[in-house]
Amino acid sequence: MRYNIVFAFCIVSAGALAQGAPRESLDPKVTEVWDLKPKKITAGVNYGEAPSDAVIIFDGKDLSKFTDLNGADAKWDVKDGAFTVSKASGDIKTKQTFGDMQLHIEWRTPTEIVGEGQGRGNSGIFLQERYELQVLDSYESPTYSNGQASSIYKQGIPLVNACRKPGEWQTYDVVYTAPRFTENGRVITQGAVTVFHNGVVTLNNYQIIGPTEYKGFPVYQPHGKASLKLQNHGNPVSYRNIWIREL
Ligand code: MG
Repeated sequence: MRYNIVFAFCIVSAGALAQGAPRESLDPKVTEVWDLKPKKITAGVNYGEAPSDAVIIFDGKDLSKFTDLNGADAKWDVKDGAFTVSKASGDIKTKQTFGDMQLHIEWRTPTEIVGEGQGRGNSGIFLQERYELQVLDSYESPTYSNGQASSIYKQGIPLVNACRKPGEWQTYDVVYTAPRFTENGRVITQGAVTVFHNGVVTLNNYQIIGPTEYKGFPVYQPHGKASLKLQNHGNPVSYRNIWIREL
């Protein structure tokens, strides 16, 4: 945003200088920005590989970046480079807190189909512990549209159903802008989220109405940075390769 502000200033300044002057006579250097350089990073080589400035949340080895909701060790099952929801812990959340971010996360619902609708392969990714990006087997399992995979639960309906078969790994790539609040807690701007599900845009700058509620309508409560939370909905959903870039 900083760069855009500088660029806008240049444009306005150039416009003021150029009033009445034909465009051909303008100096193109006036609108060039040289003194603010985007930080140089190294992008991943293959899709899903973390870039050099990412915070690695799970690299296949352990859950050291997570706790349960009481601050104790997260005890979901780690195996073969992934981890799976377990009764041993309820929901788990990252120790580190985040605001605006880019998130990459991979998930898999169980191969063995058990249950229907919201009872089949249900988990969830709570942005800032509050706003659930639904994880669900929505391949061939009807449920309410604003509760299927890739929805913001009970709010945003995905543009398409890009769900893969149960047992197959799937990806979410998320660009999230946290809500902004005044000092006395009023909403200045809602949270907003863009989601790529298996590389397909399913939410395009969706404006989040408020925190996820199972019953009733959501109402924003002011907050600062917060954890990424993963939901234990009683189904053995697995995750792997999780990284976040703070924006
Ligand atoms: Mg869920």
